[in-house]
Amino acid sequence: MTTPAAAEILDRWTVTRNACKLCTPLGACLAFKGIEHCLAFLHGSQGCSTYIRRYMISHFKEPIDIACSNFSEHTAVFGGGVELHTGLDNIVRQYAPTVIGIMTTCLSETIGEDVGSLVKTYREARPELAAALVHVSTPSYRGTHAEGFHDAVLAMAEQLTEPGSRGHHLNLLAGMLSPADLRYLKELFADFGVEAILLPDYSDTLDGVPWDRYEAIPPGGTPLAAIRRMGSAQASLELGHILAGRERTAGKSLRDRCDVPLRSLGLPIGIAETDRFCRAIQEITGAALPARHEAERQRLIDAYADGHKYVSGKRAVVFGEEDFVCAMALFLREIGIIPVLVASGGRTGLLEAKLAELGGDSTVAGDVDFLTMADLAKSANADLVVGNSKGYKLSKELGLPLVRVGFPVHDRFGAARLLHVGYRGAQQLFDRIVNTIIAHAQESDEIGYTYI
Ligand code: SF4
Repeated sequence: MTTPAAAEILDRWTVTRNACKLCTPLGACLAFKGIEHCLAFLHGSQGCSTYIRRYMISHFKEPIDIACSNFSEHTAVFGGGVELHTGLDNIVRQYAPTVIGIMTTCLSETIGEDVGSLVKTYREARPELAAALVHVSTPSYRGTHAEGFHDAVLAMAEQLTEPGSRGHHLNLLAGMLSPADLRYLKELFADFGVEAILLPDYSDTLDGVPWDRYEAIPPGGTPLAAIRRMGSAQASLELGHILAGRERTAGKSLRDRCDVPLRSLGLPIGIAETDRFCRAIQEITGAALPARHEAERQRLIDAYADGHKYVSGKRAVVFGEEDFVCAMALFLREIGIIPVLVASGGRTGLLEAKLAELGGDSTVAGDVDFLTMADLAKSANADLVVGNSKGYKLSKELGLPLVRVGFPVHDRFGAARLLHVGYRGAQQLFDRIVNTIIAHAQESDEIGYTYI
């Protein structure tokens, strides 16, 4: 529900000042990092690839190679077909990738470059080429990093999967989660005794182990052969309430092209959404919830009972990518915190309707920047801020603690290992939130308490 005062603030600015979203091809790069032996290739300038690399390295603390066609003034005027083909030749020679994920940038889209046709002519001229080429259109002025991520996953589903006779495996289209989240989901499926193809899977490529020798492309990721088998899965689970509202998604493409039944669910953050997720696995496969996950669920309920006095009635500002804030707002409601302001730079227009449908009366602000968010937050009388590290200045200005979740987290260590999903993720989030509230109460009190 948007109050008249909030509506007045939202109407005040038409320009973006400190965006609460990231560049669209950045999200696509993240998706391609989850494919085995895949190299991401940007058709655009070096500045774009450098920015994206720097942004991802600061969060994941892993080497990130992103090739680019190196647009110059000349290319911007006359087109970059030659540079695209030369760049692809170079990376095939140097990296020998199995998959190349080709993305566009603001510049190549603005000059109207027909990258789909350039990729087709490249492929036709090289019949011996072993690498699979995936092309996705990612102009950043059209969407956010989340759109880039989902469009890349959709492009892989459309361009790499094949229909086949029905198998027993499931497809898991988990959305933009952390490497720790993906590792947890793989572990959960293994405990269920169910084979799941996770697209994408950057749990190793973006949170890896030390190497004895240099690897041009970090090991890990969803193998191309597994992606091809997604068309013969028993069902697809696609996570994200906002994603479900999009006309075209990877899950919908697999349903329509390959007859793979689709279950759309929210991100499994908190008990209610994790219950729905586990129930869906049980209903499709007939497998029972593994005992150790049931035990984690029970421990979580016990923790909610023990910690409710610290969180009940507290008020939070939550911001970030739309699906993530939707899930986080539901989780906060579940533990008794009122998400007074739910904000995102995403502009699908689906966030407000979805949160209203799921209950509650938060002020929901889509398509906002951090300055508008700060204006709205000043009157929200909040106790804490929940979101990525781009909200640090906002939390400082409000004098409130920031619980760092999601992407990016540039000012803390271990971002790749932040766990959000499942009973275990909810447990970790709950403990962090309770301790943040306790620590803030201690720090802002003149006397100070040692026993709370
Ligand atoms: S110019 Fe566009 S594609 Fe390049 S980094 Fe900036 S927002 Fe991203």
